[in-house]
Amino acid sequence: MSESHLTRFLLLPELKLTDFKFRSTDRFYRAIKESRFEVCPKCATPSFKVHDRRKVTVKDAPDAGKSKWITIVKRRFRCPKCKSVFTEPIQGIRKGARVTQKFEHSILWACEVFSDLKKVKTTYKCSYKLIYKCFYRQLELKQREKMNDPWPKTLGIDEHGLFRDKKRGAREFATIFVDYTNKRVKEVVEGKSHAELEKGICHIKGKERVQNVVIDLADPYKYFVKNYFPNAKIVADKFHVLRLLNPAINRRRIGITGDKRTLGIRRLLLKNGFHLDYFTRSHIWKWLENYPELKEVYAYKEWLHRLYRCRGYTKARRSLIAMIDQMASSKIKEIITLRRTLQKWFNEILRYFSTRITNARTEAFNNHAKLIQRKAYGFKSFTNYRLRLLNACS
Ligand SMILES: [Zn+2]
Repeated sequence: MSESHLTRFLLLPELKLTDFKFRSTDRFYRAIKESRFEVCPKCATPSFKVHDRRKVTVKDAPDAGKSKWITIVKRRFRCPKCKSVFTEPIQGIRKGARVTQKFEHSILWACEVFSDLKKVKTTYKCSYKLIYKCFYRQLELKQREKMNDPWPKTLGIDEHGLFRDKKRGAREFATIFVDYTNKRVKEVVEGKSHAELEKGICHIKGKERVQNVVIDLADPYKYFVKNYFPNAKIVADKFHVLRLLNPAINRRRIGITGDKRTLGIRRLLLKNGFHLDYFTRSHIWKWLENYPELKEVYAYKEWLHRLYRCRGYTKARRSLIAMIDQMASSKIKEIITLRRTLQKWFNEILRYFSTRITNARTEAFNNHAKLIQRKAYGFKSFTNYRLRLLNACS
C-alpha cells in the first residue's frame, strides 16, 4: 500500500497526513490538503493565491474504540476576480462542521441499532447535542420525502399515552393515524381534541380519498372523523368491542375469588369460550351456576364473540338486534350501559362484517410507539418523538 493510499484510508480522500500522535484513549492526526488551486465559491474563478492559513480540528468516527481527531491546516485563498477571501472546502466535512460526515453517518447507524441514545453517547464519546442534531436532521429529510403523499383509502385512528412530564406526573395523549393501505404510520399528533387533530393533519392532502376509518368506541374520534373526512365510513374495532365486558367480569370475579394471579379462572373467563375444549367450557358454566350475575355478564361476553363469528352482514345484524333486545330485560348496570353503547355504535359495529377491517395494525404500531418511548426514556420534544415514530414505522 502506498503512503497516499494509507492516508486516504485513515483520513479523508483529499488529505495528506503530516504528523500523528497516539494517546491511550485518543488518536491525533495532522493533515493538509494539497491542491494547486481552489475555485471561488462566489464567482467560480480559480484562485492560486493563498491568503493565510487556519487550523481546524474535527472529530472523526472512532477507530478501534479510540477517539480520532484530525487537525487540518486549511488554506484561505483570495479570489483574483472578486477579491473575496474563502477557505478551501474539504471533501467529507460539511461546511463549518466540527465532525466528519463519516462520523455523522456512523452516529446515525448507531442510533438505529443501539437500544438507546445514551449508549450511542458513551460509545462515540460525543455530546447529546451532536447525536440529536445528526439523527433528527436525517429523520426530517426522510420524512420530507413522504410529506406529499395523500391520505390512503383505509385509515386507523387510536390514542396512546405519552409520559413526558415525569415531575408533574401529567399523562398526555397522542393520536396515531395508521395508513392501512401502505402499512405505515401516517401521522402522530399531540393531543386528541378536535382542534389539535385538525392542526396536526391539515398538511395532508386528499381527505376525500379516505373511505374507511377504524376506531375504538370513542365518541370524540367518531365526531372528528364524521366532520373531517367527508366520504369516510366508520368501522368500530372488533377487538375493542370484544373487550367491552372484561372490566365487568373482572370486578365480579374478584369479589368472588379475590385477585390471586395464580387462579386459573382469572384468564379463562376472559377467553373466547369457543376456543376452549369441551370439558373446560362445561366446567366454567357449572362454576358460574353459583353466581347468577357473573353468569349473565359472561353469557353476554360470549354472545359478543358469537356475533363476530357470524358470516355475512345480514346474519350479524340479526344477532346484534337479538342481543340488544334481550339486554333490555337485564337488571345489571354494565349490561344496560353496554346496550346503550351497542345501539349508539350499531352501524359502525356492523360495518366490520362488510369490510372485515380491524384496528389490529394500529395496536401493533401503538406497542411499537411505547417501545420507542421506553428506549428513549421519554421524549423531551414531541417533534422528535413524532419524527422517530414516523420513521420507525414506515
Ligand atoms: Zn471570486
